Amino acid sequence: MTTPRTAPGGFPVVGIIGGGQLARMTAPPAVGLGVTLSVLAESESASAAQVIPSSPVGDHTSVEDVVEFARRCDVVTFDHEHVPPEVIAAVQAAGVRVEPSPEALLHAQDKLVMRRRLTELGIPCPDWAHVTSRSDLEAFGERVGWPLVLKTPRGGYDGKGVRVVTGPDDARDWLDAVEAAGAGGTDSEHGATMADGLLAEAMVGFTRELAVLVARSPSGQAAVWPVVETVQTDGICTEVLAPAPDLDPELASRASESALRIAGELGVTGVMAVELFETRDGDDRPTYLVNELAMRPHNSGHWTIDGSVTSQFEQHLRAVLDLPLGSTRARERWTVMGNVLGGDYPELYATYRHLMARDPAMKFHLYGKDVRPGRKIGHVDVSGDDLDDLRARARHACDYLQGVITE
Ligand code: ADP
Repeated sequence: MTTPRTAPGGFPVVGIIGGGQLARMTAPPAVGLGVTLSVLAESESASAAQVIPSSPVGDHTSVEDVVEFARRCDVVTFDHEHVPPEVIAAVQAAGVRVEPSPEALLHAQDKLVMRRRLTELGIPCPDWAHVTSRSDLEAFGERVGWPLVLKTPRGGYDGKGVRVVTGPDDARDWLDAVEAAGAGGTDSEHGATMADGLLAEAMVGFTRELAVLVARSPSGQAAVWPVVETVQTDGICTEVLAPAPDLDPELASRASESALRIAGELGVTGVMAVELFETRDGDDRPTYLVNELAMRPHNSGHWTIDGSVTSQFEQHLRAVLDLPLGSTRARERWTVMGNVLGGDYPELYATYRHLMARDPAMKFHLYGKDVRPGRKIGHVDVSGDDLDDLRARARHACDYLQGVITE
C-alpha cells in the first residue's frame, strides 16, 4: 500500500471500502476530476481492483485492515453497506473522515432502524411491525391480513432476506433463528444476524416500483435526479426507465421532496437511493410508500452515466469531498438502462461486434465479473425520444449478451 494521502496539486485521495462494480464505475469520473481513488478490495481480481491501481486487498469487517487502509485516504466512503458500525467508528477515531457517517448509514444497514425513523418523520411507509416471536407475527397477520412480507433487518440484498409468508409456519426457520439468536444464532442462508428479530410488513399492492436518487454534501447542498421506474424480474432489477413514464407530476415532486427531507434529517452525505412503491390512495389517486434506502450509488442510477449531465458516480465524489454538486438534468427525453445478468454464454466480448454494429448509439458497461447465472455483470444505456424503441433495443442487447438470443 503506497498511496500517499493527498496527491500533488492538493488533489485528495478518496478511499472506497469494497471493490465491486460501484467502485469500478467511480474510476472514470475520478480520472476526469483528477482525484485519486483507492479501493479496499475483496481480492486482487475484484471488479474495481482491475481498473484502480491502488486496490489493497483486505477484509471490510476487520478493524485492522480498514483502519490501515483509511489512514492513506483523505475521506472514506463505501461500495456496499456491509461494513460494521464499530469498524467505521474505528476509522473515525483514527481521524479519517467517513461519508456517510455511521449514524446515517445505519438506516441503510438495518431495515428496522429505517422503518422506525421514517415513521417518526411521517414519511409514508408500508404498515409494519417488529416481530420477535410467533405470536407477534400472528398478531400482525390478524391486523393486516395474510400473506404478508417478512424481512431480515440486516444482510439482505436482491430479495434474499425477503419472504412472502402466508402464515407463521412459512417463517418457522426464521422464527427459530430469532429465538436461537440469544445464543448467537445466524440464518445459515445469508449469514444475517437475527438477534434483533424480524421486520414484518403488509403486502403492498403496488402498481409499479419507483426510485428517487439524491445527493447531499456535508455542507448541506442537495440535488435530486428525475424519479425513475425500476422493473424487477424474480426480485432482481432488470430495467430502469428514466424518467418514470406517465408519472403524476405532483407525486414526482412529493417523492422528490421526501427524498431530500430524508437526506437532510438523517444527515446523509454522498448519493442515496430511495426505493418506492407506487400505489393508489383511498380516492384512487396515485401515491407512494417508501420501501428502502441505499446510501451509495445505486443500480437505479446507472442510467445517469450516459443520461444525465452529472453521473451518480461523479456526484458521489463531489458530495463526499464537499465540492459543489453537478447538474442532475437529463441529457435526453428518455434513457433506458438494461441490466445484463449472467447467462450460459461466457464469451461476452464476442458479442460486441454484432451489438455495436447493430446499434452505434448503445452504451456498454461491463463489470469484469465472472459470468454466473442471474448475477449482475453489466448494464447498457440508451437514450432518445421513443421510449418503446429504446426499451426494445436495450432488451435486445441484454438478451444477446446473456446468450438468450443469437441474432
Ligand atoms: P432487498 O434489500 O433485498 O432489495 P427489498 O426490501 O427491496 O429487499 O425487497 C425486495 C423486493 O420485494 C422489492 O423490490 C419488492 O418487489 C418486494 N417487496 C418488498 N417489500 C414489499 C412489501 N411490503 N409489499 C410488497 N412487495 C414487497
